[in-house]
Amino acid sequence: MAKNKQAADALLASADGVQNGANIPAVAAPDTIEILTEDETNPPGHTPYDPTPKASAYAVALGQLNRVADFMDLEDDMRLYLRTCQRELIVHFPVKMDDDRVRMFTGFRVHHNTTKGPTKGGIRYHPDVTLDECRALAMWMTWKCALMDIPYGGGKGGVIVDPTTLSPRELEKMTRRYATEISPFIGPERDIPAPDVGTNAQVMAWIMDTYSMHRGYSIPTVITGKPVSIGGTVGRESATGLGITYITRSVLKQRLGRSLDDTTVAVQGFGNVGSWAARTMHERGARIVAISDKFGGIYNSKGIDLRMLQRHMAETGTVVGFNGSDALSNDELLSLDVDVLVPAALEGQITKHNAHRVRATILAEGANGPTTPEADEILADKGVVVIPDIICNAGGVVVSYFEWVQGLQSFFWDEGEVRRQMERILLSNLEAVIGTTTRRRCDLRTAGYIIAIERIAAAMKVRGFYP
Ligand code: NAD
Repeated sequence: MAKNKQAADALLASADGVQNGANIPAVAAPDTIEILTEDETNPPGHTPYDPTPKASAYAVALGQLNRVADFMDLEDDMRLYLRTCQRELIVHFPVKMDDDRVRMFTGFRVHHNTTKGPTKGGIRYHPDVTLDECRALAMWMTWKCALMDIPYGGGKGGVIVDPTTLSPRELEKMTRRYATEISPFIGPERDIPAPDVGTNAQVMAWIMDTYSMHRGYSIPTVITGKPVSIGGTVGRESATGLGITYITRSVLKQRLGRSLDDTTVAVQGFGNVGSWAARTMHERGARIVAISDKFGGIYNSKGIDLRMLQRHMAETGTVVGFNGSDALSNDELLSLDVDVLVPAALEGQITKHNAHRVRATILAEGANGPTTPEADEILADKGVVVIPDIICNAGGVVVSYFEWVQGLQSFFWDEGEVRRQMERILLSNLEAVIGTTTRRRCDLRTAGYIIAIERIAAAMKVRGFYP
């Protein structure tokens, strides 16, 4: 198992990477899904699915929508329409493991809304993936795409699995079978997945290949975040982290009259998003004083040497134990006295239980949905500037859009062009959000939602409710 884990880690690292309303059915029976997933015939040694209930991400997403819908006095029809996911697919599938035994997996793909175009959103491999979480993440993708004014609705998918427990061969087989199961649901004009937690460019390549094999010709535009050698775009791997840096730098300047120079930063999560956010902020003068991953965190008030940390990560698979740093817990990291806090791990990290301990001046949401609505209120009272996920981490989907456009045209841009266009789209929409905060006297998240919802509602009005 340790050998498998190391090999899978190396593979993953190597590729370029409330309440429910009365008129909506209760969140779909997660129990059923969990029971089906935890198959007793699974070989011993596989990480069991932990059925401990956690805060519903979908409840958080609905809570955020409800708040803004009340604030902007959204019509009931539109509110009902937007709170509901349009299509939801659950798949159960077998994979023959290395020891020749069959293991059953459960996966999902959700399309939240297709008003403005095909759906777009990541694929997550994580033991805690649920339909509820996919719904929330799909809904957040709808707002993000509309706020960036790119022609997509929101989608999301995932498989209940800890990919680090699979061998590279098992990971490929599981990915190809999952891709086969969801293939009627995806496509360049239908739904275009991308990487998310636990997946990377290599996984996207397997999905692209599987989809293409079934149709008999290469269809690179079915997925984004794939390697450049098969039609990926330069600049996609760093896009989400770099976008966080562009947005944070602009907010720092506009709100506090400060630059990134010698700004202190703490980053929770050191995967694709967290590591690129840290690296690109550091390149612009910021001091990264704390970093964590799922195993724990590290702290150095003088600044963490990111180059040496990458070397340590390659050897150990974690930031924990890095020379010249003090150990700290994820909880301690969230309450550090820093200028910028970047949660870049999972949703639901800053809640009513710990928000009062946040001491950062700016909370730049790298992850999707890291802050609950109750925490938002506490942070607002404390004067913390929250840059919401739908603008802060939108660089990833913007460059995914560029990848799709380049693929459809079979004409590829250089990295300078990708970065320039991403910065232009991010900063012009940030300006629109800041303008709305002034006009409507609201926070950045509310302003972002208002713009997104108004754009979708306008499109829906001209399309009409079919039939
Ligand atoms: P990743 O798998 O590359 O990295 C996730 C990181 O979070 C790892 O370092 C992991 O150890 C850490 N982590 C997991 N659980 C943790 C915990 N409880 N506490 C602290 N750290 C923990 O994933 P990623 O692609 O970097 O995605 C991170 C977040 O950013 C997710 O919310 C994802 O939806 C969001 N996001 C990703 C992209 C993208 O382009 N990859 C784009 C937009 C948003």
